[in-house]
Amino acid sequence: MKFTNLDERIHVVHPDSDSWKIIRDIAESGVQEEPFYVFDIGDIVHKYKEWKLKMPRVEPFYAVKCNDSSTVLEVLAALGTSFDCASKGEIMKVMELGVDPSRIIFANPTKPASHIRHAAAMGVDTMTFDNETELHKIKSLFPTAKLVIRIRADAAVAQCQLGMKFGCDANTEAPRLLKLARSLDLDVIGVSFHVGSGCGDPPAFRRAIASAKMLFNAGENLGYNFRILDIGGGFPGNKNSSIHKISEVVNAALEDYFPDPGLVRVIAEPGRFFVASAFTLATNIHSKREIPAGGETTSVMYYINDGVYGSFNSLLYDHAHVTPIPLKNHSGKLYPSSVWGPTCDGLDQVTEMALLPLMSVGEWIIFEDMGAYTLPVASPFNGFPLPKVHVIADETIWYMLKDHLPLTEDHFVLGGTPNNLRLGLDIAGNEVMQDWSMPSLCHQD
Ligand code: PLP
Repeated sequence: MKFTNLDERIHVVHPDSDSWKIIRDIAESGVQEEPFYVFDIGDIVHKYKEWKLKMPRVEPFYAVKCNDSSTVLEVLAALGTSFDCASKGEIMKVMELGVDPSRIIFANPTKPASHIRHAAAMGVDTMTFDNETELHKIKSLFPTAKLVIRIRADAAVAQCQLGMKFGCDANTEAPRLLKLARSLDLDVIGVSFHVGSGCGDPPAFRRAIASAKMLFNAGENLGYNFRILDIGGGFPGNKNSSIHKISEVVNAALEDYFPDPGLVRVIAEPGRFFVASAFTLATNIHSKREIPAGGETTSVMYYINDGVYGSFNSLLYDHAHVTPIPLKNHSGKLYPSSVWGPTCDGLDQVTEMALLPLMSVGEWIIFEDMGAYTLPVASPFNGFPLPKVHVIADETIWYMLKDHLPLTEDHFVLGGTPNNLRLGLDIAGNEVMQDWSMPSLCHQD
């Protein structure tokens, strides 16, 4: 199949280049005003290697909800991950890439009937449940499904808690649900949990794995032979974070409770781990207000062209905190500053207080770690368009991935810049007169 979506092509850049250099090239071109992302697929490749190194026994099923960009899914599929889908739409999106249904877990414990029917039609047979109604629904719609019981296992500290909505109590509800499943002649094959997204309490994984072991035993007493342990998501993904601590806890707990890899397949549903740091957002200051007192500027309000209705919805829904970084180097005094989005809503505040240099209208503010739970939720409220995403890969990543389906040679563009890539057009479709032969980009010989 020929790849035809020109907007999502991956620009091959020189190994010396990086997201910041590309941002500079585009921002300082003189024709760019709209906000934009640079998405470096090499970052995902490095994350994948880190995962394999740190938790070799745990197979990642990427949580599509976190960032459903086609390129993210293609890169992860090419690397060989599997997928956690929450709906019919996500299942369709992943299967359109040619991913086999055995590489999908339908990990939403409460599913609309039509979505269960769709999973059945597509052969996506592994799915989670945490309540009685779901068991009866699955019995009538997809009686041969392979079921994974989701238990509640809240971390003491997490960016987003999930236990108030999902997961049955491992001690009281789960044994009762397993008995019901048995009496309905349903095939339960394992246990799952999610400690909470952005987990700040690594021992929560040990507690959850211990509870899962207890249910493996309960299942055995009912005549089941559980073979899947799904340790969910919760792994950090920002540049300055690491999965090291969690991996130590997980590996030790697996060794203690599930020592035989031949008996139990361990999977996880990481979302933000894979994508958070791969996306860097560049925003432009279009207005500002200096607040004076005694004839001097005491603080500054900056208005940028992306806000909480766009990429920064993550401040509200994902409880994210972001750090504004001026693109231009400034020396001199720093001022207490607030940063605001472009809409007419007073809620549209990106940072309440940051110490920033005195910047001018037209300057750029950069935000790192913007890949998780941002774009899939963003809206063009007030008529402000969502930022375009420029996808880059360095030559080594290109060489490594270009023939790994669903990626093909056609996905990649060699030479040019992400902004003038096609026919010398800028982002708005205007002809670009400048010679943008950027040294940071590699050229086709
Ligand atoms: N799995 C399920 C069922 C989820 O609900 C989520 C996030 O909400 C994830 C996985 C991904 O979690 P994270 O991004 O913390 O890895």
